[in-house]
Amino acid sequence: MPFTALGLAPALAQAAAELGFTTPTPIQREAIPAVLAGHDLLATAQTGSGKTAAYALPLLQRLTQAANHSPRRVRALVVVPTRELAAQAGEVVRALAQHLPRQPKVAVVFGGVSINPQMMALRGGADVVVATPGRLLDLVEHNALRLSAVELLVLDEADRLLDLGFADELARVLALLPAQRQNLFFSATFPSPVQALADALLREPLRIDVPAAPAEAAVILQQAFLVDSTRRTQLLRQLIKDQGWQRVLVFVATQYAAERVAAKLHHGDLYATSFHGGLSQGARQQALGEFKEKRWDVVVTTDLAARGIDIEQLPVVVNYDLPRSAVDYVHRIGRTGRAGASGLAVSFVSPATEAHWRLIEKRQGLSLPLEVLPGFEPTETAPPPSPGDGGIKGKRPSKKDKLRAAAAAAARKPD
Ligand code: AMP
Repeated sequence: MPFTALGLAPALAQAAAELGFTTPTPIQREAIPAVLAGHDLLATAQTGSGKTAAYALPLLQRLTQAANHSPRRVRALVVVPTRELAAQAGEVVRALAQHLPRQPKVAVVFGGVSINPQMMALRGGADVVVATPGRLLDLVEHNALRLSAVELLVLDEADRLLDLGFADELARVLALLPAQRQNLFFSATFPSPVQALADALLREPLRIDVPAAPAEAAVILQQAFLVDSTRRTQLLRQLIKDQGWQRVLVFVATQYAAERVAAKLHHGDLYATSFHGGLSQGARQQALGEFKEKRWDVVVTTDLAARGIDIEQLPVVVNYDLPRSAVDYVHRIGRTGRAGASGLAVSFVSPATEAHWRLIEKRQGLSLPLEVLPGFEPTETAPPPSPGDGGIKGKRPSKKDKLRAAAAAAARKPD
């Protein structure tokens, strides 16, 4: 089915074709006609589903259909959780707009870089703004842009926006928008705060649930290795060598660990780097660009890279530190085996983390053998269950235990 069959203008279909999009993905097939018809949208969608074009294409068409505004006022606002996603989504919108008779001006704004160039870029207005919430509010406060003429709002990765603590900023942004507008809401998961936000925002939305294609889910081979925590780097190096892995994305729990593990691997003959929220924007873009160009063997990262970032067809993902939750596990392993390509997701489990691994397995409905690579037989012993983990009957955590656990959790916070 061609894109024009969904009601899109030939100029947009042509731009899509030039990006290699000739047939709409399932979410595009459902979302595009609905958005063109003016509906609000509530879509369960993962990165990799084609969700960006699913909102960008009809958004652009609606901008060109409606009467021209002069001077330029922001008519479409796309709010995203991370700088990388802002940059990516902005690129897609610009590329898809390239053959339109009247080129919309697309501004991409995010924090972590100087505000001045973004203020300059907004001089004379913009038709479409792709933004992270904090910087968007800064720009409004600087009178660099106004949101009173927004006709179409897109919230992309709404669950991630709330996870990253953007609820207040988001509420302030929403308060600046006109009541009369179209809302498109995309999220990979719908825990209750996300559902509450969707309920508050949307009017009789069309609901789209695009399940992860079973074929895609099936092609991720999952493995778990039991290994002493102190020997994980050695095991990783060994597996990379023995298995001939190339382009490995390694997840760790903290920015510090990302630096440390990358440095240790790099000391060997591997070309390894780190990628996390503590790096400057320039360093992040550079690392990502180089990884895409296949210049790195290994990128060691925090959960920052688990979502939103489109790195195509990563062959191997390694959980060097286990993810905190089963949901994070899904996001991490989703970085491999995408778009139908097969992938491998390997988790390192140490005696101390085995109980946590069992919980993730249970939530995932998995039952993987814990493999031991010869020469890496574990010698560590599991610590006794702590009072706060609910493992001891009749003993409930005291207030002090809870405070201690909260402080430990805060100290572990990755980004
Ligand atoms: P997204 O879910 O928006 O992050 O897109 C995931 C990937 O799919 C990106 O690399 C897009 O370039 C690609 N893509 C999006 N739509 C299509 C399509 N209709 N056909 C082929 N590839 C697509």
